[in-house]
Amino acid sequence: MNGLPVDVATDWTRGGPRFVLAVCDECSNTSYLPAEHCSRCGARGRTPRVAVGTGTCVAVTWVHVTVDGGDPAGLVLVELDEGPVVMGRTAERELRPGDGVGVAFEPSGAGRGLVPVFSRKA
Ligand SMILES: [Zn+2]
Repeated sequence: MNGLPVDVATDWTRGGPRFVLAVCDECSNTSYLPAEHCSRCGARGRTPRVAVGTGTCVAVTWVHVTVDGGDPAGLVLVELDEGPVVMGRTAERELRPGDGVGVAFEPSGAGRGLVPVFSRKA
């Protein structure tokens, strides 16, 4: 994804408030994690696409032992509307698989950049 405008190429792992997906130029397979080849057809050509940021909760769990000894941390897997599954945080105890969710990118704390935080769609 070299040579792309910053707002497209910079995803949340680099401080941009977005998920950046890769759409295969040959078969339109949409993936999230970087890869040399399309996992479906093996083609190399990809076009970046910014995810809308909405999807469906696939799984949710709570971690009760945290690094800072604070409140339990909610971890969630979300299938984005574009197809890929991503991980994020949640603060909603009522969140269940099947719920529609939306993402916000919030400071992770300790100056470590952004993290995706999902909540139920209104
Ligand atoms: Zn492909």
